[in-house]
Amino acid sequence: MRDYAIHLDPKKMPDYWYNITPDLPGPMEPPLHPATQQPLTADDLSPIFPMPLIEQEMSTEPQISIPGEIMDAYRLYRPTPLRRAYRLEQALGTPAKIYYKNESVCPGGSHKINTGIAQAYFNKQFGIHELTTETGAGQWGTALSIGCQMFGMHCTVYMVRVSYQQKPYRRTLIQTYGANVLASPSDTTESGRAFLADNPETTGSLGMAISEAVEVAVKSGGTTKYSLGSVLNHVMLHQSIIGLEALAQMESIGEYPDTVIGCCGGGSNFAGLAFPFYGDAKKRGATVDFIAVEPTSCPTLTRGLYAYDYGDTAKTTPLLLQFTLGHNFLPPGIHAGGLRYHGVAQQVAYLVRNNEMRAVAYPQNPVFAASVDFARHETIVPAPETGHAICAAVDEALKCKESGEAKTILFNLSGHGHFDMTAYEAYLSGKLQDYELDEEVLKKAEDAIPKVSA
Ligand SMILES: *Cc1c(COP(=O)(O)O)cnc(C)c1O
Repeated sequence: MRDYAIHLDPKKMPDYWYNITPDLPGPMEPPLHPATQQPLTADDLSPIFPMPLIEQEMSTEPQISIPGEIMDAYRLYRPTPLRRAYRLEQALGTPAKIYYKNESVCPGGSHKINTGIAQAYFNKQFGIHELTTETGAGQWGTALSIGCQMFGMHCTVYMVRVSYQQKPYRRTLIQTYGANVLASPSDTTESGRAFLADNPETTGSLGMAISEAVEVAVKSGGTTKYSLGSVLNHVMLHQSIIGLEALAQMESIGEYPDTVIGCCGGGSNFAGLAFPFYGDAKKRGATVDFIAVEPTSCPTLTRGLYAYDYGDTAKTTPLLLQFTLGHNFLPPGIHAGGLRYHGVAQQVAYLVRNNEMRAVAYPQNPVFAASVDFARHETIVPAPETGHAICAAVDEALKCKESGEAKTILFNLSGHGHFDMTAYEAYLSGKLQDYELDEEVLKKAEDAIPKVSA
């Protein structure tokens, strides 16, 4: 009998998060204050984040224990299954073993709730009643609205205008969980009004929506904080529950991955799976090939500049040393909305920069071809973002077919695509366009990024 699913006993769910900071090969360059360009202090962050999350952001502890109330909330849907893609392997005719961590079973349909719950909890503990955030494709807005609902908090979501208009059901999903959703740029903030004055027809962007959400928190006088669904160290930390579970699951069947793959937008689902294996492989002296996968239309890690840049368009967030396409980058309207951010987590950037991990990029047509193939063999319809990881996993498995190597490949199935039927429809009817990044964009980014004298 085939064991398609490897389940972890809920009693054995890890009760701590893994912090990669002490395992990094060297110290990271500090985040800088956006105005003074001086290294950021905890006080600088306190208008937007509660102190417990700031401490996690800066922590050098190897592990941080998960509070009981968060464990209890996680147990609603965790541990998630690890699955072996027997049917896909067979269809590919590969000697490789393909495993995937199925985060598509999370409430809201993606891994994002792992940090949504944690961020709502720590804000609530700190006496905060309301969180603001941005959302592009809608998964993060959904996750945070669920988290806020769990702990009795208000939630305001600035949703990128084009998604707000084109994805009404995502909006309704977020509203169903109790959050207030506004199309961004909106006329409710100073930065939003400025973006609209600049271009009344703007489709919006994550960078603009972040500016609006941050502004509301800063001007609230301490009652409201801002919440970010990816990129920051504390988000990578919360997502480590994915990799810690996967480690235990692989161990329970006597397996260890040669290759670990995740799609990469801000970096959190990739880091969530990859970081615990990075730390573990280092301890055992094992070699693992870590691959972050991005779209060719938003190739932050593969073609971006390694430089300090802002996280938002209005230049209000701290400066992080990262790969960037420029804080004013407007990506083409590809369907993997969650992979359209101009920057990336500084920890992921650092590891790729130092050749500890690597990145590849694919256009959307091969991504959807792999996704449809995956759905037909494995029965799960993946999110377009996740399709990037699948595409790379299939490529790696096909390389094994060529070489005859029986590698063990593990990827993160970060979410399902049940709200992405417009994208699948476009693919199935042959209307999906592929985009390569214009070299011009990188020149523009070069001009836009701040000159940091450090
Ligand atoms: C948001 C999202 C991503 C991209 O964000 P990361 O922070 O890079 O993980 C990937 N997959 C799904 C399903 C998402 O919702």
